[in-house]
Amino acid sequence: MTDMIDGTTASVMGATPGSAPSESTARPHAPGAFTLPRLDDTAASGGIAEHVYQALFRMVMESDIAPGSRMVIDKIASDLGVSSTPVREALARLETQGLVTKERLRGYFATEIMGSAEFADLWEFRRLLEPHAARQAAMGIDRTGKVRLQYEVDSIRQVRLQDDYASMTTFREHDHRLHDLIFEFAGNAHLRKAMDQAHVYNRMFRIRFAPIDGYHAIQEHADIARAIIKGDADAADAAMREHLELAYHRIEPYLQ
Ligand SMILES: [Zn+2]
Repeated sequence: MTDMIDGTTASVMGATPGSAPSESTARPHAPGAFTLPRLDDTAASGGIAEHVYQALFRMVMESDIAPGSRMVIDKIASDLGVSSTPVREALARLETQGLVTKERLRGYFATEIMGSAEFADLWEFRRLLEPHAARQAAMGIDRTGKVRLQYEVDSIRQVRLQDDYASMTTFREHDHRLHDLIFEFAGNAHLRKAMDQAHVYNRMFRIRFAPIDGYHAIQEHADIARAIIKGDADAADAAMREHLELAYHRIEPYLQ
């Protein structure tokens, strides 16, 4: 199995064009200023607040709003053609997700993208929690859980990942669901909450690593799920350790 997930080899999806790591790192961070697309009337059907939130979420995730830059409520509201209320709501929501910070008397700022030291700390945290959670999940998962876990790994295999926001969103949401399911089946609400509060996925996916790496992770997720579904705690622990190590070495070269 490991021969398929060596981050340096071509891959399970060798046919995916244009996915070389050098190309996917090319996107520059925007300078301090940014402009927002005005929301049209169709936005109202989905709820203005949700659209404002989605627009700002995407701009922070994609660094269209430069990391560390100030996010001025009135300016954003004016650019989007909305009142300040949905902007305030969106910023408060983004704050709970670790994407913006609120500084007293100064307002909101996009958080910085994590550097090497923060990434190493985050992975130390994951190494401590997740192999244990995988082990517990293998011992505690029930029949329904097995179906849900299998469904998660099967459904993502249908997706063709590209170097665009939609693909990375699909993969980020899969990664989040897969790891969260394991914490759910592990049955310890404290561990699950600790993982949730680390904002792993929002922080990780602001680093523009190659979409091809998603395919390696999907294979590793399938290995973890297989071990958990079999009820093999040692194999689940080992598969999660391996996934975290391989992911670390895949992402680390993209850190600034
Ligand atoms: Zn993963």
